[in-house]
Amino acid sequence: MFLLAHAGISLGAAVVATGLAGGRSGPDAERAGAAAAGQAAPWRRIEEWVTTLSRRIDLRVFLAGTVVSDLIDKPLGRIFYGTFGVRLFGHSLLFLMIVLLAGLVLHLRRRQPALLVLGLGILAHLVLDGMWWDPHTLLWPALGPSFPTVWQGNWEQAMVDQLLASPGTYLTELAGAAVLAGFVWMLVRHGRLLAFVRHGRIQEHP
Ligand SMILES: [Zn+2]
Repeated sequence: MFLLAHAGISLGAAVVATGLAGGRSGPDAERAGAAAAGQAAPWRRIEEWVTTLSRRIDLRVFLAGTVVSDLIDKPLGRIFYGTFGVRLFGHSLLFLMIVLLAGLVLHLRRRQPALLVLGLGILAHLVLDGMWWDPHTLLWPALGPSFPTVWQGNWEQAMVDQLLASPGTYLTELAGAAVLAGFVWMLVRHGRLLAFVRHGRIQEHP
């Protein structure tokens, strides 16, 4: 699974979970619902869920968390193993626990939840990577100090082949890209793209 699938599917799952948990909450969601009046009902409802979710967590940090494991491990793999085809410390429970523990301390002392949200994104990444199939890396270093999943051969070419030929790969990438495109389109349509990039807010009033 590549970055678009990780970010888009994780965001989609978080939005759906928000909807299942109640979806609309607070005056901002009401305002978003009112602003979206006239749209098709399902899209309006999804926008309410996205707005509600964005009031609870900083979606910029969450999206960063969904890809940070690969952004750490791939370059390190290229440097230390000569290939991008590795999963290292960034795909371990230890990494997740360190981020969550630091996040807990930060949240308790300064009411700053950013690292907890980052940890949520990292957890989504580990789940979507199916890391339970690679317990040696997931539980590193409990089962030994080395990382066993080092790709042999031309990883880049193998990934291009997989992207073109494997439905499980290109369909998930397309699904992730569609979710991200819908999210960006929502921000653009409401004139909130720059505000979101700068402040992580979708609604006009905090
Ligand atoms: Zn990964």
